Amino acid sequence: MTSVDSSKHKKAKALKPTSRRPAKELCSECGLCDTYYIHYVKEACAFINQQIGELEEQAHRRSRNLDNPDELYFGVHQDMIAAQKQQPIAGAQWTGIVSTIAIEMLNRGLVEGVVCVQNTKEDRFQPMPIIARTPEEILAARVNKPTLSPNLSVLEQVEKSGMKRLLVIGVGCQIQALRAVEKQLGLEKLYVLGTPCVDNVNRAGLQKFLETTSRSPETVVHYEFMQDFRVHFKHEDGSTETVPFFGLKTNQLKDVFAPSCMSCFDYVNSLADLVVGYMGAPFGWQWIVVRNNTGKEMLDLVQDQLNTQPVMSKGNRKEAVQQSIPAYDKGVTLPMWAAKLMGVVIERIGPKGLEYARFSIDSHFTRNYLYVKRNHPEKLEEHVPEFARRIVGQYKLPE
Ligand code: FAD
Ligand code: SF4
Repeated sequence: MTSVDSSKHKKAKALKPTSRRPAKELCSECGLCDTYYIHYVKEACAFINQQIGELEEQAHRRSRNLDNPDELYFGVHQDMIAAQKQQPIAGAQWTGIVSTIAIEMLNRGLVEGVVCVQNTKEDRFQPMPIIARTPEEILAARVNKPTLSPNLSVLEQVEKSGMKRLLVIGVGCQIQALRAVEKQLGLEKLYVLGTPCVDNVNRAGLQKFLETTSRSPETVVHYEFMQDFRVHFKHEDGSTETVPFFGLKTNQLKDVFAPSCMSCFDYVNSLADLVVGYMGAPFGWQWIVVRNNTGKEMLDLVQDQLNTQPVMSKGNRKEAVQQSIPAYDKGVTLPMWAAKLMGVVIERIGPKGLEYARFSIDSHFTRNYLYVKRNHPEKLEEHVPEFARRIVGQYKLPE
């Protein structure tokens, strides 16, 4: 089934259970179930009804070509580039391309509102989804809230406000549910600006991650797993701390990631019109995937504010991925000196550009495939999309 049956919509408004999460422990708290659209949850939820192929056809008019190696990995697209804002937005996650596109769309009247996520007053990492109607509100939503965020919880307000043109910024699981209910929102035009997403956590999990990994967890304002195989923490005083991936305390962190993220195969946000991440770009650059004409229209709005270069690919990830599978499975943690050394070596000779993105996708898909197989064997067949099976099939997995 491609999307939801509109005849149910009226009935859905009468229902409004707020505490149900039919995906149970696999729920990513996308927010759909906080609205009357919960009525559609069995069809719309990314963790109950995996339907990426069908929704690709709905959003992009075709599903990905599995025989095209780039589409197999990165989904339907007409273009990929690396980019930086000529004048980065201070305090953005990277250079602020996402916030800039959203502001341009609002200023030029293409949309009346933007679904994005600010943080609460008390806690910089506690997400607070909003419908922004001014550039200031969009700017206040810049930088990742690296926690599960109920972005779709504001969907009811969209319909009530009478808005007809909307931009939604979100990660893959949020966008899959959004696409499934898109036709029920009463919009003339929906624009979707996605980011890749992986290894998200709830707020308690984030605290554990910060406490096990950073020298000063309470002053972290921003972090990212970067293309140089290090986690980069930025602190309140402006200092940067880096920790090599291979030095992470895998044994303590194994249960930190949300079960939804351990079962996700939509790392690259297949259903967004335009995707802005970093992992397919050289270190320091953002990676942009234009999936369809709507995505191109969005990117064109900011082209004159960007430095760009073609995407590149270097190295061979396969051996590193194969070796990391049993190491992660057994929770192997290297001593810090060895982790640093390995980090330096792999940064010199390791995969770069699109090959780094493939490295990250392979590592996460193999791990997640094993997770689903072991913890939700009854879901394995339907939940893992064909493109992910092909990717995982390149490796030898433990039982
Ligand atoms: P900014 O201009 O700073 O804007 C950031 C936008 O993100 C804001 O509009 C805000 O509404 C939105 N946002 C913040 N937190 C959340 C959230 N929890 N859920 C949904 N939307 C949110 N890119 C990769 O290439 N590889 C990854 O593995 C990867 N993992 C990510 C994990 C998470 C949880 C998130 C939110 C993003 C991830 N990204 C990843 C994307 C990347 O980190 C940047 O967000 C992206 O490159 C945009 O940077 P920017 O400076 O243009 O964004
Ligand atoms: Fe509902 Fe979203 Fe959780 Fe699925 S992931 S159960 S749609 S809140």
